[in-house]
Amino acid sequence: MSQRKADGPAPHTPLISVVVPCYNEGEVVTEAHRRISTVMRALDGYDHEIVFVDDGSLDHTWDVLTSLARADNHVQLVRLTRNFGHQPGMMAGLREARGDAVVTLDADLQDPPELIPAMVERWGQGWPVVSGRRVARHGDTRFKVATAYVYYRLLKSLADHPIALDTGDFRLLDRSVVETLTRLSGDPGFLRGLVGWAGFAETSIEYGRAPRSAGRSKYTLRKMASLSHRGVMTCTATPARLPTAVGVAWLGGVALTSAVRRRPMPVAAWTFGGEALLLGVLGEYLRLVHHETRGRPSYVVARRDRQHPITPVTAL
Ligand code: UDP
Ligand code: MG
Repeated sequence: MSQRKADGPAPHTPLISVVVPCYNEGEVVTEAHRRISTVMRALDGYDHEIVFVDDGSLDHTWDVLTSLARADNHVQLVRLTRNFGHQPGMMAGLREARGDAVVTLDADLQDPPELIPAMVERWGQGWPVVSGRRVARHGDTRFKVATAYVYYRLLKSLADHPIALDTGDFRLLDRSVVETLTRLSGDPGFLRGLVGWAGFAETSIEYGRAPRSAGRSKYTLRKMASLSHRGVMTCTATPARLPTAVGVAWLGGVALTSAVRRRPMPVAAWTFGGEALLLGVLGEYLRLVHHETRGRPSYVVARRDRQHPITPVTAL
């Protein structure tokens, strides 16, 4: 009998992956690597990897990353063929990451890597999702802070599932959450929405968002608008119900007016309500199509406690 069998399997050192999407971040990736690496090396009892995703950078980002990888064998690199955007870049990193827990982090150090040990500690206490919650945003423009404040509250009120407020993409995800998210097909669109949809227990750690370490924001107004649009479109189909609501309210109003005045209302008064209701019928079918084409499972299992496990269950 081998020594290992007698002692049981060798203890597994948990692996923490740090995923960093980069687009034209040649000026910051060296400093990002230094800060993340310092924190991760000091984290006792854990192994780590840093997965940099080059989202089709046009500057020298890739050259810097390859020299970082030569000097540090914890560095893993993925390069996308062109610029697909921050969200697909993060998804590429999640698929590449091998960690028992995966932290996603911006390359510009607006999210402090020094918070990772606290996130790992919460994960160790059993939390599958640990989000960074921004309580101060010194590094962002007033416009960005104000629009984000309104937008997320509006989205939360419309969304079909929970949406965490004041959180971005600085987050730790347990392997079970990563598996759930990476099995989904199609464009991730809005990862923070998907995390809410997946429904795992979530806790947060508060932090102040620092200014960018160098360079300029890669989120142009167009990219911000596109992200917000994707957020609404993927988190809710409730607006497709608007014609039904308008039609019912309008027809109710016309009927009431007719009853109060004790005379029939002209056909033209009913027409708008009728048209709105017809649109509402289309809206209902569109909601169904929206629901089905997202290809999400109808539930996610948090854990199983089976008395007689026979074969592993493969459903999500
Ligand atoms: N990013 C990316 N692809 C893009 C735009 C941004 O991978 O098309 C990365 C970027 O390099 C950074 C993160 O996404 O690591 C957040 O971008 P940025 O800091 O420019 O956004 P802001 O903080 O201004 O919202
Ligand atoms: Mg930034």
